[in-house]
Amino acid sequence: MHTRSRRDLIISAAVTGAWLGLDKSLAMVAPDSPQTPATPVRSQNKPPVRRAQTPDPRPGFLRYKVGGAEVTALYDGIWEKVHDAKYFGNATVAEVKQALAAAGLTSSFVPIPITVFVVKLNGKLILCDSGGGDQVQAFNPNSVFVSGKMMANMKAAGIDPKAIETILVSHFHPDHIFGLLEKKTNAPVFPNAEVIVPAAEYKWWTDPSLVARLPEWRRPLAQRIQSVIPNWKNVLPVDGEDEVVPGISFVSVPGHTPGHTAFHLTSGSAQLMISNDAAYVPALSVNHPGWHGAFDQNGEMAEASRRKLLDRVVADQMLICGSHFPWPGLAKITKDGGSYALTTVRSA
Ligand SMILES: [Zn+2]
Repeated sequence: MHTRSRRDLIISAAVTGAWLGLDKSLAMVAPDSPQTPATPVRSQNKPPVRRAQTPDPRPGFLRYKVGGAEVTALYDGIWEKVHDAKYFGNATVAEVKQALAAAGLTSSFVPIPITVFVVKLNGKLILCDSGGGDQVQAFNPNSVFVSGKMMANMKAAGIDPKAIETILVSHFHPDHIFGLLEKKTNAPVFPNAEVIVPAAEYKWWTDPSLVARLPEWRRPLAQRIQSVIPNWKNVLPVDGEDEVVPGISFVSVPGHTPGHTAFHLTSGSAQLMISNDAAYVPALSVNHPGWHGAFDQNGEMAEASRRKLLDRVVADQMLICGSHFPWPGLAKITKDGGSYALTTVRSA
């Protein structure tokens, strides 16, 4: 274990009304619009089981090297999101379908896979976000939203969950943190790991006055966070862009959420930008960086952060991975006029 001491929270991001004004479009896991529900598969006395149309990758893990670091991508699941006219403020459903098709993806729904990354660096195992822990379907009754396969895939990859020493959290959306919580009890899934979180994100979600200011549908998430995370003794909020473990630094990319953070891994001359949700689904947000999605809490700020991050990745010719990139989540990016082009790769 590294021995950094718990710091006082130094909050740089003010909790402003501007954020709250955008709460109606809050979040990656915005509820579905009331469209035709996906048909659940029913069995006699059990609740409906949702099955994704997208086949799981087999195996559900992929390992590659970034300098001396070993990265393992773990498949957690997929959100097959029904199309929704409100998904982008400045792009139509027809344009979204066209962008998906242009990237070679299905346009029957928006395919939003979840990939979680484990980095082995200097002998330590670092988990980057935790997937949805099979606890996000209820937020999205009209779409199929499968998650929680990370643990089985971690074990299949030969990684002992008990050996995870550090967990880095990018932001507090359900598909990134629910994998840290047991489904029924909220008990920590990784009780012995230190959980390093962006201080601005921690401050925003744990402000007791937040719940009353949120729209109704978003309150359960804030309530769950507030009833659990502040009580954990192993949570370390870190402000700014510190090196949080040797070889990995926080990179501030606010907009998706107030404290949304990427992780920059360096090992020798090799670099990987673990971009989390800064570039979201590349067919939409990388190829059309100016589209403002409902998944970004502050669209203008998210776009500025996204462009800054992608410009850095291009300038330094580093690899990039993302939570919702096409499996295995690893890619190279080039600049393409005012936008960007992404190529999925399977090895560094
Ligand atoms: Zn996400």
